[in-house]
Amino acid sequence: MAGIPFFEASGRNHEIGLQIGERFRKNIRDVIDRIQFVRERSSENFERACRESCEKHFPQYVEEIEGMAEGSGQEYGDVFFLQMYKEVLNKMLPGDGEKCTSVVFRKNGGFLLGHNEDGIKEHLGNIYVLKMETGQTRSISLCYMGILPGNAVWVNSHGLICSLTSLHAKPAKPGIPKYVLNRAMMDARNTDDFLRIATGKDKALGFHATLISKKESRALGIETTPEDYGTAIIGDRYLHTNHYVFGKFRNISQFVSDSSRTRYERVKEMVDSLKGDKTASMAKILSDHGNSPLSVCRHGDPSSTGRTLNFTLSSVTVDSSDMTMRISQGNPCTSECKTYSL
Ligand SMILES: [Zn+2]
Repeated sequence: MAGIPFFEASGRNHEIGLQIGERFRKNIRDVIDRIQFVRERSSENFERACRESCEKHFPQYVEEIEGMAEGSGQEYGDVFFLQMYKEVLNKMLPGDGEKCTSVVFRKNGGFLLGHNEDGIKEHLGNIYVLKMETGQTRSISLCYMGILPGNAVWVNSHGLICSLTSLHAKPAKPGIPKYVLNRAMMDARNTDDFLRIATGKDKALGFHATLISKKESRALGIETTPEDYGTAIIGDRYLHTNHYVFGKFRNISQFVSDSSRTRYERVKEMVDSLKGDKTASMAKILSDHGNSPLSVCRHGDPSSTGRTLNFTLSSVTVDSSDMTMRISQGNPCTSECKTYSL
């Protein structure tokens, strides 16, 4: 994969959306086309209900989407749909598009986060790194073109580090699409603020978040459903893939893919036997090919639409001691990393 583009945007929400839209004009058009197979299965009523929830709870991020549509010269409805296609995909094929592995170690009194961002083949070549300044918050995030920042991995100027992994329980309900909620989480100022946003009512779809707060010296895993949530305090080591594992959700009806279960068991084994340098151990875990093709470092299959054959689009590590993000330009086993600082 060629290098991941880097882009800086600043200003109010609408201006930021406008800048991103102008910069990635062609890519946004492309992704609208590539996600058309999901749009065909959507309904006007479901889309309208999701739009109304966003307008009610998060008008500032609606402005960002409007800016992105204007900047890229696309219809607002088409760009809004990119924010909610996961909800429709989840209704079409529960568990399809399951993605990502997150790992955390305690390190020198702080935390080291490792995350593989996996995706469907439609997103190959569709990611970028964004440095954003809104006046209240500076952030760096790994982003998808056409989709609001915040749904993969990010750090912000309030000392928060976050990574997201998808979960697959009940079909999505009309509400705030998770990508819009993820964008709002990126503006959180502390753990309580983050939890208030991430666990609020009117969610369309559940997800898992790993949150590290440097200022509060704490880290949490958070599993959410549209109606409920559970948290786990992160101690010495932690991992999450794409199924609910907290005791609270023991009986939840969920789709657990072979990939998610296999990655979970493999990483658990590696994490449990952790010794020596933690940064080196993290790199080893994120580029592991054990049980391939169901491995942590995923090489997919471009000719397949199979559920377990996603691709690792990028691999990210963040050390809370300096809050810098090390981002690989593709699979971590073969790619150079670039370092990004707030
Ligand atoms: Zn690999």
